[in-house]
Amino acid sequence: MEPRDQERFSRQIRFSGLGEPGQELILRARVVVVGCGALGSFQAGALARAGVRRLRIVDRDFVELSNLQRQWLYDEDDAAQALPKAVAAARRLRAIDSASQVEPFIIDLTAANAGELLAESDLLMDGTDNFETRYLVNDFAVSHSIPWIYGAAVGSYGLVMPVLPGVTACLRCIYPEPPSGAQPTCETAGVLNPITSVIASLQVAEALKILAGRPDLVSRRITTVDVWSGVIRQIDQPAPRPDCPCCGLKQFVYLDGSRRAPISLCGQNAVQIHERSRPIDLDDLRRRLESLGQVRANQFALRFFLPPYEMTIFPDGRAILKGTQDVGLARSFYAKYVGS
Ligand SMILES: [Zn+2]
Repeated sequence: MEPRDQERFSRQIRFSGLGEPGQELILRARVVVVGCGALGSFQAGALARAGVRRLRIVDRDFVELSNLQRQWLYDEDDAAQALPKAVAAARRLRAIDSASQVEPFIIDLTAANAGELLAESDLLMDGTDNFETRYLVNDFAVSHSIPWIYGAAVGSYGLVMPVLPGVTACLRCIYPEPPSGAQPTCETAGVLNPITSVIASLQVAEALKILAGRPDLVSRRITTVDVWSGVIRQIDQPAPRPDCPCCGLKQFVYLDGSRRAPISLCGQNAVQIHERSRPIDLDDLRRRLESLGQVRANQFALRFFLPPYEMTIFPDGRAILKGTQDVGLARSFYAKYVGS
């Protein structure tokens, strides 16, 4: 190790759990941060400071003013320029460590590009905001034997679960199917920055154990935290389920694309999301969306106006987003306001 790095990482090297051998491994590790919002930007910053120099950032969104309350890598200039989060994050990470070889990808992770974006990595970090992408990451991780760390936060509550393929349960052992109905999201239910940072910190702690060659020390529990009530709980992860469609039966339906909610262009300036078997309570959704934009609803459909977009959602979960031809944007809009 270079003398400068010995100084830079001296406090980590002095930590008996890591030492110089652990730090050497961290310096050589390759990590992909999937989604660079509140969780992902904290993870990326913390991992870069810990010595992960080969970081790949995958995110399709742009920095907005409403992100600054909890997304640690961004500032007002980034929001004023509407920089892609992956680009703004890469700039900040290079400023933190000029030896960083961070690679930004301004892209929506899909079954079609997962192989290219996630391959040749030692660890995948979950910074996403939707189940569909998490199931895709889970399929990729299990099928390629790459560990990943699931994390989620909304309101004041969050949870963390590391997945070590072949050793621990995977996401689909715990949640075989995505939750049904509209889910609370940071857009509809709000979010506090202590919950996103504590969840991301717990994810980073597990990451450091894996990267430093100590996967045996990774928590075999699901940890839930509510920073408002102050309640922290841990439950033992169940054993991997032999009938789990992913890690048990090796049916990688999210990775082969067969389970992705189909999405298609619909007319000149609209995108349709053909969700299946996802009944949505439109009254409940109306209550969630009313404070965010104009909503008109009847028993057949709900229309949500958020200029320049207009989304029509049907009780079976199908939706049409007018105002764009960008399918990734439509997917992201749906995840933010309907949840997934
Ligand atoms: Zn499983």
